[in-house]
Amino acid sequence: GAAAEVLAAHVRDVQDFPKPGVVFKDITPLLSTPAAFGVVIGALADLARDLSVTTIAGIEARGFLLAAPVADRIGAGLVPVRKAGKLPGATRRETYDLEYGTATLEIHQDAVAAGERVLLVDDVLATGGTAAAAHNLLRGCGADVVGLAVLMELSFLAGRDRTGALPVTSIMTL
Ligand code: 5GP
Repeated sequence: GAAAEVLAAHVRDVQDFPKPGVVFKDITPLLSTPAAFGVVIGALADLARDLSVTTIAGIEARGFLLAAPVADRIGAGLVPVRKAGKLPGATRRETYDLEYGTATLEIHQDAVAAGERVLLVDDVLATGGTAAAAHNLLRGCGADVVGLAVLMELSFLAGRDRTGALPVTSIMTL
C-alpha cells in the first residue's frame, strides 16, 4: 500500500551494524521527514482503530517513537515496555535469549488492567524474541494482546515462529 512505499523510501540500510555481516534497517530518515512519518503513523493508527485497542504498548527504544504518536492519535493509553532497570515502580520481568547471551524486558505490574485491548508496537520484527517477551509480560497482567504491529518484518529470521499465536501486521516485509 501507500504506507509501504513511503516507508521503503525512508529507510536506510546500514552495513555491518551493530556488528559485521548485519544489515541494519535505519528509520531515522523516516523520523526526520514529517510527511512520511505522518503517513506511517496514520497506517498504524488505522490498524489500532480497526482492532478497537484501548492501549498501545511500545518497546524500548524505537518502538516508543512510534507508539506515542499512535496512542495520541487514537486516544489510547501508552505503556512503555522497557529494558531492565529503567522503570521506577514494581515490575514484572521476562528474560529471553539473544544470539549471544540474554536480554531482559520489564513493565510496571500495574501497567495494564485485565481486559484492556493492547497493541504492541515496534519498528522491526527480527528473530521475534523481543516481541515474544513483551507479549508474555502483558499477558501476565491479564491484558488481551490483540496484535503486534511493526514497520518491517525480516522474514528470513522467522520471527513469527517465536511470537506464536500473536497476530503480526507489518507495513513492509523483507
Ligand atoms: P528480535 O528480538 O526480533 O530479534 O529483534 C527485534 C528488536 O531488535 C526490535 O526491538 C528492533 O528495534 C531491533 N532490531 C533488530 N534488527 C533491527 C534492524 O535491522 N533495524 C532496526 N531499526 N531495529 C532492529
